[in-house]
Amino acid sequence: MSEEATKEEKKWFGTLLSYAKGSGGRLSISVIFSMISLLAGLIPYYCVYGILNRYILGEIDRAYVLDRCLIALAAYLVKAICFGISTGISHYVAFHVLEGLRLKVADTFLKAPLGEVYAHSIGEIKSVIVDKIEDIEPPLAHVVPEGAGHILLPIVCFVALALIDIRVALASLLALPLGLIFMMLTFKLSGKNMVKYQEANAGMSSMIVEYVEGIEVIKAFGKTGVSYEKFAGSIRDYRDFVIEWLKSTWVTMKLAFAFMPATLLGVVPVCILLVSKGSMTISGMALCVMLAMSMVISMAKIEVFSNGLRQMQYTVLEVKKFLDIRSLPEPETEHLPDEYTIELKDVHFTYDDEQGEVLHGIDLTLNEGSFTALVGPSGGGKSTVAKLIARFWDVSSGSIKIGGVDLKEMKVETLADLVSFVTQDNFLFSRSIRENIRLGKPDATDEEVYIAARAACCDEFIQKLPDGYDTSAGEAGKRLSGGERQRIAIARMMLKNAPIVILDEATAFTDPENETKLQESIANLTKGKTLLVIAHRLSTIKNADRIVVLNDGRIEDLGTQEELMKRSALYNRMWQAHVGARNWAAGNKKEA
Ligand code: ADP
Ligand code: MG
Repeated sequence: MSEEATKEEKKWFGTLLSYAKGSGGRLSISVIFSMISLLAGLIPYYCVYGILNRYILGEIDRAYVLDRCLIALAAYLVKAICFGISTGISHYVAFHVLEGLRLKVADTFLKAPLGEVYAHSIGEIKSVIVDKIEDIEPPLAHVVPEGAGHILLPIVCFVALALIDIRVALASLLALPLGLIFMMLTFKLSGKNMVKYQEANAGMSSMIVEYVEGIEVIKAFGKTGVSYEKFAGSIRDYRDFVIEWLKSTWVTMKLAFAFMPATLLGVVPVCILLVSKGSMTISGMALCVMLAMSMVISMAKIEVFSNGLRQMQYTVLEVKKFLDIRSLPEPETEHLPDEYTIELKDVHFTYDDEQGEVLHGIDLTLNEGSFTALVGPSGGGKSTVAKLIARFWDVSSGSIKIGGVDLKEMKVETLADLVSFVTQDNFLFSRSIRENIRLGKPDATDEEVYIAARAACCDEFIQKLPDGYDTSAGEAGKRLSGGERQRIAIARMMLKNAPIVILDEATAFTDPENETKLQESIANLTKGKTLLVIAHRLSTIKNADRIVVLNDGRIEDLGTQEELMKRSALYNRMWQAHVGARNWAAGNKKEA
């Protein structure tokens, strides 16, 4: 297992590049240009050497100097242009990799069982998709081409030094072992903490999101509340951790930085010795010093890049956790149902093993075009049944079929087209209200949007908003009441016009005035559709063809309103409570 894990870890770079489909060639071109650029950067040194050489020999003339200066200038231009081309291409590739990664994560979430998505906090998801993936860009764009160049350059310099004098070349490496030792020590010290660092960072991210989402509660309960403490605590932890981490590697890192590139430490004394013995010219020494300094720059860059590589590796492995989320199985070729009877057979369902089974063998058939109501005490599993029909999760055992086709034999998109699902907490996207309604049918005309809005009793309040239908639901979101949001969701559902409609306490927040109107609209628009309504207000479902009483994950009874009133004690109790609540509300109104 752990061996496999390390294998995975080693493959991370390939994983990353696989998201730059077809960009492999581009990346190689970028690497080649980067190498040309760095090598071209050596030519001016050679020109300086030539001029110095002639000067010392007393053979210098204006034409030669001009000639060398022009060559140096040309080389410099080549260096600059090639570098520009190289980074241009590598940034292009890098941004394509980011795009590929982000789309892939988004796609994974869409295809995954909801529980797998909910297992991660919004802060964590945001931090990975936005921040961490973004963090890959600079190292990816720079490390690959420039890193390759900076590995090549010291080698070329070393060979050049060796051609001049092997002793100088060897001297250039004198301080390297010392530097490497300190470098390795630094990696060892900080390597362990890199993971902790990223975790502390992610922890802070999700805490900040939670803080902002819960700002109303924090305002109401003051800074003394637990959430504020959690928030401030995660920021403090992060600070302490980073400072400790820096402290732990400070000394070895600085020593590594000092020794690793100290080529001159060996080169200068050896050159002086050789010059004094007459086996090296002064200009030769100057060239050696320039080559040795080039090595320094590249080696320093390699240090920086190796950090970038480790950062990238961590991020890729982190993102891979999301990419590895198991998808709901989908068939290669799908069967399309030609009618819309929903059939649940011995459905068992468990959210998580600790909590235990939530549905214990549900057998239920919702005939095409019928109106079924699901009622029962809170926590009885009503919403779970609805979500399983929409395949937010797969059943633990048993089966759910539509028109005889198992949900698992349909593509996720197909099912989404067949089912309209309105829940209690309806999410509005921060786009115009018009767009939010149009989600139900992306090619709907404005007129169709208005008709749906009128049918869902939301036209009136939308008209009163500052920009009417063009008001952003994000801005208006805070101002809209729960009932208003719900009616927008119902308009969306009406526009979608799917053959199966599931309403999970969809009218729970609606005020009595709109309730009757909305009920009529829903009844009209769902005629002939397979309709499943979960309702607290029993008055809204008394016309159902069948009422199913769900209690504690089991069907306790089912029948028409009259039948249940006659024989179900639980249903009677629920009616009493409902009627009592209505009278109480009505009484309150009269008094007011
Ligand atoms: P109802 O809609 O009848 O009130 P639910 O279907 O929402 O009931 O819940 C049934 C049971 O499943 C409850 O015990 C509830 O705590 C649990 N439950 C609901 N949603 C989840 C979830 N996402 N993860 C874990 N448990 C859940
Ligand atoms: Mg519910």
